[in-house]
Amino acid sequence: MVVHPDHHHKLIDGRVISARVLDEVTESINDIKKNGIIPALAVVLVGDDPASAVYVRNKKLMCDKVGINSLEYKLESTTTETELLELIDRLNKDDDVNGILVQFPLPEHINKQTIINFINPNKDVDGLHPINAGKLMNGIESLVPCTPQGSHIMLKSTVDDLSGMNAVVIGRSNLVGKPMCQLLTNSNCTVTQVHSKTRNIESYTKNADILIAAIGIPKFVNADWVREGSIVIDVGINRITYERDGETKTKLVGDVDFNGVIEKVAYITPVPGGVGLMTVACLMNNTLKATKFQMEL
Ligand code: NAP
Repeated sequence: MVVHPDHHHKLIDGRVISARVLDEVTESINDIKKNGIIPALAVVLVGDDPASAVYVRNKKLMCDKVGINSLEYKLESTTTETELLELIDRLNKDDDVNGILVQFPLPEHINKQTIINFINPNKDVDGLHPINAGKLMNGIESLVPCTPQGSHIMLKSTVDDLSGMNAVVIGRSNLVGKPMCQLLTNSNCTVTQVHSKTRNIESYTKNADILIAAIGIPKFVNADWVREGSIVIDVGINRITYERDGETKTKLVGDVDFNGVIEKVAYITPVPGGVGLMTVACLMNNTLKATKFQMEL
């Protein structure tokens, strides 16, 4: 992605902010290592989805970088739900494992919610267990899903006080949209959540001081939909194909028409180089947090 030099100051740079989070995590891990504690994250991958394999590899690399012990469990796509539950049961009970992450999507014959519900909530570094979702809703310290946590950190790094701002969140998944709304409400924003059944979405987005796009459709948000001087967080990661010099190529784009929208807004996150980097950083943060909680540090 090429950003016009006049617009550089508008970028909320995921590289810079995630590096800061990772520095803090590394420092804290070095501290607890003095007591002989090394956080460990178990990552479970079922099947051979190529995108999942890339995500799992990136998570492992980041663990190595910050000093987390990463344990990988690669299972065949034919693994039964019972077999997966048996593995999670072992990991739940293993004192040497502090965080458990099951990479989604799972093969169709495995019920995702059954798996989520079975993970020990204190090791649930994805923050998807109903106990952690409930804690977030009640404003109780918990493991918060990594992507909205990262988006929230980006916002707080950009404005001093979110209090009273009008925030609009497009999307209502348990992974992104719902916890994002909760974090914004906890920061005293006035939150509107829109989704595929919302009529006239732009009538809401046009009034947003903060707009979060978590839909999964390239260029869904265009310049006409955003308010002058607003802040846009683009959560979307979409792989699109395009033609150049007679060749078919692919690239990653967000849910926002970046080139059009950047002209109008005060700040925007790029894709790549935005929320995606924060997600991995917050996974490291959650693994550290889970470890400290389990060790009563
Ligand atoms: P999801 O579970 O598919 O949810 C998408 C949401 O968008 C749903 O709530 C859906 O509404 C809504 N939506 C779909 N079409 C719409 C439309 N035409 N108008 C308005 N709303 C519409 O996806 P997700 O897991 O939340 O992820 C969203 C995006 O973020 C994806 O691009 C994903 O790849 C990306 N993502 C990025 C990261 C990262 O690290 N940056 C992490 C996770 C996800 P309904 O509920 O009504 O169906």
